[in-house]
Amino acid sequence: MTIEKPRVRFAPSPTGTLHIGGAHTALFNWLWARHTGGTFVLRIEDTDRERSTKEFEQSILDGMRWMGLDWDEGPDKEGSYGPYRQSGRMENYKKYADQLLASGLAYEQDGAVFFKVPEGKLITFDDAVYGHIEVMSEKASVNQDGTIKDIVIIKKDGMPTYNYAVVIDDHTMDINTVIRGEDHIINTPKQILIYQALGLEPPTFAHLPMILGKDKKKLSKRHGATSVFDYNDMGYLPDGVFNFLALLGWSPRSGQEIFSREEAVELFELSSVTKKPAVLDMDKLNFVNQEQMKRMEPHKLLGVIRPFWTKMGLKPETFSDDYLASALHTMGGRGQTTIEVAEYSDYFLSFDVVRERYDASEITEEKRPLLKKFYGELTEKCAEWTPEAMEIFTKEWIAANESSMKEVALPLRWALTGRKVSPGVFEVAAQLGREECKNRLNYYNLLG
Ligand code: GLU
Repeated sequence: MTIEKPRVRFAPSPTGTLHIGGAHTALFNWLWARHTGGTFVLRIEDTDRERSTKEFEQSILDGMRWMGLDWDEGPDKEGSYGPYRQSGRMENYKKYADQLLASGLAYEQDGAVFFKVPEGKLITFDDAVYGHIEVMSEKASVNQDGTIKDIVIIKKDGMPTYNYAVVIDDHTMDINTVIRGEDHIINTPKQILIYQALGLEPPTFAHLPMILGKDKKKLSKRHGATSVFDYNDMGYLPDGVFNFLALLGWSPRSGQEIFSREEAVELFELSSVTKKPAVLDMDKLNFVNQEQMKRMEPHKLLGVIRPFWTKMGLKPETFSDDYLASALHTMGGRGQTTIEVAEYSDYFLSFDVVRERYDASEITEEKRPLLKKFYGELTEKCAEWTPEAMEIFTKEWIAANESSMKEVALPLRWALTGRKVSPGVFEVAAQLGREECKNRLNYYNLLG
């Protein structure tokens, strides 16, 4: 027996943007395809003519690109199984419907085509995540009063229904592994009945766990951001969202929580996906996002922080990339979101923001002479403007002048950053440069 490589698909309906649930499904399909060297197909399920739009389709594609999920075949990447929009595949739906009609397994009524749900047939499948599932055919599709409900496959307007089109497409596109949200488990028996009526082998099904909000309710619009782009605006990195979504229902056997895309591809196993509902925990997302930022090379991180500085009214274009990357490096991993990193580091780009926050009013006239003396000597006499040299200079100075680190370092931090907390004050001073430190101290009348 030859083991087929997985051909998987993500099949969004372009009736909205790429939301978190869709991104999760897309990600797991992508991981499985990339892990196995299989093929990832993107199919646009646009049979709902009224609600489907080109704009939504575009935003789904853009959302996937933002997440770094590339596909091997799709509407913009024709392969040998196209077209990749259901609206282009109408002939197939007709052909198989005619076959079902000819074999007496479907019938026409009121201009629609119905698939006749048989009675007394046990439908079984082994879901790769949920395990063995079985249901009697008469329970697979029922009316409200409990009687068997035949399945509409072609509507009066000639359009195929979801449960039918999905079977025809997955079959004609040679999809052998269907990975999708658990909300489709209920549809699977109906789809299996159609496969069987056509004499076709159903694919392997793997349904992903339900995603819950922190309140343990099923994810919905109430749980904040829906589109993946909202996550970008809220300060999350594609790598952060990728890593976080991968952990919803899966984790590497080692228990490792922070991983790169390459590591995720390497470690991912469909068999280790759990059916336990996964909770969308924003604290976890913040943590994962921060860890991903810590792992980023500063120049790369600069690429994502820059637009947030600009949005805040700062002017990153007036500084060199090396200066800004080095400023981000100085931040030492502080900040959980790109927004926080941009805010926490604002004083590296502007003294105005410092002045707005800090007025030095707590520096009494008694304290001022000592501070002026120290800052004057530090900026003039400390030979090298490095954190190490400044620290040695300061320690010697406070010993000789009966002062303390706290006494001299706290006002220095305030004058340089306008903040109570920051990275090490000498690191900040080194990054700002001797001249800029003198300017800032001078503004507060703190240079002797
Ligand atoms: N268009 C369907 C959806 O968005 C696809 C479901 C499936 O993967 O079968 O839910």
